[in-house]
Amino acid sequence: AKTDKKSKYRIFETQMDVEVRERRRVATDLRRAISRTELEVHYQPQVSFINGEVQGYEALVRWQHPELGHIPPDRFIAIAEETGQISEIGRWVLERACQEATTWQNDEKIAVNVSSHQLRSLRFVDMVETAIINSGIDPRRLELEITESVLVQNPEMTMEIIHNINKMGVAVALDDFGTGYSSLSYLAKYKFQKIKIDRSFVQGIGGNAECNAIIDSIVSLGRSLNTIVTAEGVEEIWQLSQLQSAGCDQGQGFLFGKPAKDVDEFNKGSDRQIQ
Ligand code: C2E
Ligand code: CA
Ligand code: CA
Ligand code: CA
Repeated sequence: AKTDKKSKYRIFETQMDVEVRERRRVATDLRRAISRTELEVHYQPQVSFINGEVQGYEALVRWQHPELGHIPPDRFIAIAEETGQISEIGRWVLERACQEATTWQNDEKIAVNVSSHQLRSLRFVDMVETAIINSGIDPRRLELEITESVLVQNPEMTMEIIHNINKMGVAVALDDFGTGYSSLSYLAKYKFQKIKIDRSFVQGIGGNAECNAIIDSIVSLGRSLNTIVTAEGVEEIWQLSQLQSAGCDQGQGFLFGKPAKDVDEFNKGSDRQIQ
């Protein structure tokens, strides 16, 4: 039994080594990725539940590694947050998304994810201003998505940053709403222009009565606070009809389109499942 335990422990140790090595490699290669433009921005449409129009796109970073192929953000964003590389990545994504959005035909909004690491200093506001000036984008087209974790870690600084960002005409959306810390007091303190219902609730529609109830409450909360409510991860037509009857304003998900490099693809498709 003793040797059994030992060998199991050795296997465990080896897996940890592999993980540590992998994380180190991601961090090292990420440095090169940023400088050699292995990164790309893809765009996923946000569709109105009233008329089926694409109202905006969320910018999602993509990494095409020369040897390892496509590495999804879930495998490198967390590491980049630990190493601080997320600031440089985030700045690059913001600059790139603003530039590309100015070439779109229909002036849709552009939503960019912001990591809590980026919101630790007021210099973030200058960075946003620089991206607006460099691209020449109308700031009212820009929207920044933040998660609740930043409100917990750094409430005063975040409050000031959101205030300054709103003053420029840029909107702020609360991402992944309903997960994590989810204190309702945040909604009272910070005036978000948009709340995004986390995909986990949308995926529970139908099979899980609690999910329907939570979606209904978020929508009525949004109504009272005069905030746009977006549903994430809409994959099925019956999820869409449930969200529509709940009074949700817009949605994003594979039903409408997967993230893609070229937004003109979405403009071609006339059938958006909304009636
Ligand atoms: P998120 O901000 O919640 O982004 C939505 C994620 O859901 C995206 O995953 C998107 O591809 C995926 N998604 C969209 N519709 C559906 C659907 O119908 N079904 C399913 N199953 N998934 C759907 P992605 O692109 O892999 O990004 C994962 C996370 O990585 C993002 O979650 C965000 O937290 C982070 N991320 C991505 N790009 C950036 C970035 O530029 N900066 C920062 N800080 N984080 C980013
Ligand atoms: Ca997001
Ligand atoms: Ca989200
Ligand atoms: Ca998420």
